[in-house]
Amino acid sequence: MLRNKEQTKRRWLDLAPGDPVIVVTGKDKGKQGEVLRTIPDKHKIVVKGVNILKRHTKAGAQRGGVTVAQGGVIDFEAALDYSNVMLVCPSCSRPTRTKHTVLESGARALVCRHCGEPYERVRKTEAQ
Ligand SMILES: [Zn+2]
Repeated sequence: MLRNKEQTKRRWLDLAPGDPVIVVTGKDKGKQGEVLRTIPDKHKIVVKGVNILKRHTKAGAQRGGVTVAQGGVIDFEAALDYSNVMLVCPSCSRPTRTKHTVLESGARALVCRHCGEPYERVRKTEAQ
């Protein structure tokens, strides 16, 4: 019996768009930014201002079915591995590993390992 079926289980990432993070390894080590989006399937994350790559585009090139009218170099933030970043705790302003807890209300929360403060996520959009 073949067992090569692709795993479809989504791994939940602790970080969500809007969270302040610091890059702890790689070429952008030490940079701080805000999470733009997460890609749980690939265990990757896109952070504002981090891992900037340049995409060279020729005028008239086809990209995603859209013809690019103006060529040139476009800066864009590439995804980096989730494990390369750490959450910055708003209470003690330190990069922190988090542990999970369940609040009295039954809601799940992240807790800072340093100061023990629950990290409350300020969501910009409910749609996420
Ligand atoms: Zn803290």
